[in-house]
Amino acid sequence: MQDSTRPRTVMAEAIHLPDPTRPPRPAPGCDVCAALDKQRAQAEKSRNIRKATSCEEEIRRHPHKGKP
Ligand SMILES: [Zn+2]
Repeated sequence: MQDSTRPRTVMAEAIHLPDPTRPPRPAPGCDVCAALDKQRAQAEKSRNIRKATSCEEEIRRHPHKGKP
């Protein structure tokens, strides 16, 4: 059993989000999206990437009337 070949993941790079579709654009005129976008920006400032990512997801998923 060799334990020394355990791969080391470089977590320092994880702060940089690799998602090319980010940040999602909040729908204009949508209060919910605007609030989520603010939360996302704040979370990102405090390097709370997990929260920032979940905010992005919510913005993406937020349903809107009319054409997409
Ligand atoms: Zn919205």
